[in-house]
Amino acid sequence: MLIGHFAVGMCAKKASPSVNLAVFFIAALFVDLIFPIFVLLDIEHVSIDHSITPVVPFNLSHYPYSHSLLMSVVYSLLAFILCTKWFKSKKISFIVGLSIFSHWILDFITHVPDLPITFGDYKVGLGLWNSIWGTIIIEGSLFIIGVYFYLKSKPGFNKKRNIIFWSMISLLLVAYFWGIFGPKPPENIPESAIAWAGFSIWIIVIMGYFADKKETSKLT
Ligand SMILES: [Zn+2]
Repeated sequence: MLIGHFAVGMCAKKASPSVNLAVFFIAALFVDLIFPIFVLLDIEHVSIDHSITPVVPFNLSHYPYSHSLLMSVVYSLLAFILCTKWFKSKKISFIVGLSIFSHWILDFITHVPDLPITFGDYKVGLGLWNSIWGTIIIEGSLFIIGVYFYLKSKPGFNKKRNIIFWSMISLLLVAYFWGIFGPKPPENIPESAIAWAGFSIWIIVIMGYFADKKETSKLT
């Protein structure tokens, strides 16, 4: 899934309003944030193949370290343990862990059977990406729900944060529809270039941070 992961982050923010939105974006997209690092380390592999699905042209041939069910459980549990120390709140830690795990569930719905369970050859995926309109309806609905719940978290926007938030939402939607309907990248693009492009997720994480960052009260 693509924008659906950001929707999870925005829903998680509603459940723990005291934590910055960027934390939940990092959680909901954690395995996508570490994936490019593993590709650059040459232990995970991806290539462009236009015959894979009409929505996303990635042939994700080997990515058990970031995207297996086993590792998703491990990352979720580790995050839960670390967050109980950091936030001193079991509720927040549980929501962070659940956000990390949600990534696998959403990817399971959308990906063709390329998601590994462990490190073996058994892979799963329900293949929603085989349908462009099915993807847009389901993921789009999830995204609208995410924005709705974020706004229900009473972010208390000032003018600057309001602009950053809606720019972030617009950027996500433009990138999303450009990815589906725009020109497809060439198939011979090097793996490292795909990995570097993957780091662009951080742009949204940073925008989410500043959109959600409350002004500290002035002393004078
Ligand atoms: Zn993913």
